[in-house]
Amino acid sequence: MNEKTATAVVIGAGIVGASVAYHLAARGCTDTIILEKATTEVTGSTARSAAGVRHQFASEVNVRLSIYSIERLKHFTEEVGGHADLKQVGYLLLVNDAETWAAYERNAALQRSLGVRTQTLAPKQVLDIIPRTRVDDLIGATFCPDDGYCDPYGIATGYLARTRELGARLKRSTPAVAIHRSGERVTAVETPDGLINCEWVINAAGPWAGQVGALADLDIPVNPYRRCVYMTEPFALIPTDIPLTIDVGSGFYMRKEKHRVLFGLSNENEPPGENLSVDWEWLHIVIETGVVRFPVLEQAGLAHKNCWAGLYEITPDHMPILGRHPELPNYLDASGFSGHGVMHAPATGMLIAEEILDGRAHTINIDELRVTRFRDQALKPEANVF
Ligand SMILES: Cc1cc2nc3c(=O)[nH]c(=O)nc-3n(C[C@H](O)[C@H](O)[C@H](O)COP(=O)(O)OP(=O)(O)OC[C@H]3O[C@@H](n4cnc5c(N)ncnc54)[C@H](O)[C@@H]3O)c2cc1C
Repeated sequence: MNEKTATAVVIGAGIVGASVAYHLAARGCTDTIILEKATTEVTGSTARSAAGVRHQFASEVNVRLSIYSIERLKHFTEEVGGHADLKQVGYLLLVNDAETWAAYERNAALQRSLGVRTQTLAPKQVLDIIPRTRVDDLIGATFCPDDGYCDPYGIATGYLARTRELGARLKRSTPAVAIHRSGERVTAVETPDGLINCEWVINAAGPWAGQVGALADLDIPVNPYRRCVYMTEPFALIPTDIPLTIDVGSGFYMRKEKHRVLFGLSNENEPPGENLSVDWEWLHIVIETGVVRFPVLEQAGLAHKNCWAGLYEITPDHMPILGRHPELPNYLDASGFSGHGVMHAPATGMLIAEEILDGRAHTINIDELRVTRFRDQALKPEANVF
């Protein structure tokens, strides 16, 4: 069998694998092979995301991942090259029940204690931001002006281009088909082209991370769930550059994509799977839900060709799985972002590089994100997921 060697093998050329490979290379570990099963890079979830970035989480570690990542995205072109196209239009979260509002006030206080500029707003103030919103049943809203959206494709390809300039190798159409172990160590990753002997392997396979974990006989609880994104024809009655706005009670969200409105709502009842066709039946529920909060949307036309579906990579607690595996310390997880992998990719790459090169992630404490939590801890799910 044809054999190669590399210091690190990164499985998956999405935004997370690209960030991991970049951060390794930027610290001098350039002998990396990035394996991508598709014919080209950045075709998985990264290319199908709604591209939102926000600080507004309920768990401190998620807020910290966002603070680090969004700061890096602000300086992406000068630090990495390429473009992140970060648009800090904010995230506006609308709340209509007292219990949730109490939690959102606590979340806002937590975020502010970490230096995030989250504000609480009265319902009437929402009308200054999005006129014609139904606010009579709202209790309040939270708004962070430093949230927004970005260009995930630009970020991932920017990381990959710089990483390859530094010496890393990208292998397209090259799936990892087996992970060879000797006792408690990975020795090689097998591909249809042969074996790659390596010192480190990083599972950055997005929605397929569970399958890649199984190649090493590991149980990595990440499952793919379809999520659809819908788009209107150009529609001026929703102002340009509104924040990414979420009606927390229903889960309906929208933002502007140039002159169109991009919107969606997760179908929580759909079982896991890899179906990538747009769910047109679900669209009716999404529209019915959305027009309750934003009645003006009833007047918008749908741009069928601009709608798409992608896969969320969901863990049981909606928290990512990061770091070295205790049973196999030279295998690392960088997956399970549960719909937040774009916004947490810069921090993830930096932390995985620390795990490998410094022995342990230290810029942000990721102990509660390690895979061991599923076997020996009561899970603390992230509450702010949509
Ligand atoms: C509709 C939708 C909306 C979203 N909105 C947001 C948002 O607003 N903000 C946000 O932060 N996140 C959002 N997400 C989530 C975000 O897109 C993901 O968390 C992120 O893209 C994960 O990146 P990744 O690199 O881990 O995965 P991917 O981009 O899926 O990359 C994984 C790669 O691994 C490759 N691969 C898999 N198995 C193998 C193998 N055996 N060998 C080699 N290669 C393999 C795949 O082909 C793929 O290219 C959204 C996702 C969807 C679907």
